[in-house]
Amino acid sequence: MKEKQIYIFVGPPGSGKGSLSSLCTNKMGWVSLSTGNLFRKHILEQSHIGKQIDFAIKSGKLVSDELVSEMVRDWFVEYFDEMPAIILDGYPRTVVQAGSFLQFLREKFGQFQLRIVRFFVADETVVERLSNRYICKNIDCQSVYSLMKGSPLSPRVSMMCDKCDSPLGRRSDDEPRAIRERLTIYHQHEKNLLQFYLTHKYPVIEFNVDKKLHDVFEEFKQLMCLNAS
Ligand SMILES: [Zn+2]
Repeated sequence: MKEKQIYIFVGPPGSGKGSLSSLCTNKMGWVSLSTGNLFRKHILEQSHIGKQIDFAIKSGKLVSDELVSEMVRDWFVEYFDEMPAIILDGYPRTVVQAGSFLQFLREKFGQFQLRIVRFFVADETVVERLSNRYICKNIDCQSVYSLMKGSPLSPRVSMMCDKCDSPLGRRSDDEPRAIRERLTIYHQHEKNLLQFYLTHKYPVIEFNVDKKLHDVFEEFKQLMCLNAS
C-alpha cells in the first residue's frame, strides 16, 4: 500500500493556503483539514467541543491548544484510513500543538509521509490581497470575493454577491492596519514553529507563492513530484 501523505501548510493569512488546498481537493481528491472550518462545524452542531470553542470565542479568548488538538485528533481518528492525502491548513499553529500532534501521529498511525510546506510571500502582497478581500454579508452564503484587478474572484456586479445578490463587506480584521498587526504576531509564531521542525529534523520545503494561483498549483505539483490527472 502506498504510504499516506500528510502535508502541513505553514504560511501567513492571505498567502493562499486555502486556495491551494481547494485546488488539491477538487482536482486530486485530497482532503484538507482547516481548523477554522472545523471550529464552525462543531459550533453549528453544538458538539461537546463546539460548546467550549463557542464559549472561548464569545469571551474573547483564544481557543486553547488542548482544545484544538483534541478536535484535530478526533478528526484524524475518524477519517485517516479513508484519505489518500491530507492537507493541514492552519494547524499546528504553535509549537505546543505541533509537538502533541506529531507525537499523536507516530503513536496512532506509525506509517505516513510528512511534508511541511512553508508558503513564502512578501508582507505587502498579503496586505494587498487581504485588504481587497470582500465577503458576502449574507450569513448563510459568506462567499469570498476579491476586488483586485483581474482577479478571477471579482464579483460580476460591483459590491454584490454573484450567488445571492446580497451586498459585500470587508471583515474588520481585513483592514490594512489590522492585517499588519496579524502579520507581526504570525511571524513570531512561524519562527518558533520552523525552529521546532528543524530541531526535530522534519524537513521544511520552502515554496515561493508570490505569484498567480494557477502557477502556484502547477509548481506545487512539480515540487511534490506529483502527476495529477
Ligand atoms: Zn452571497
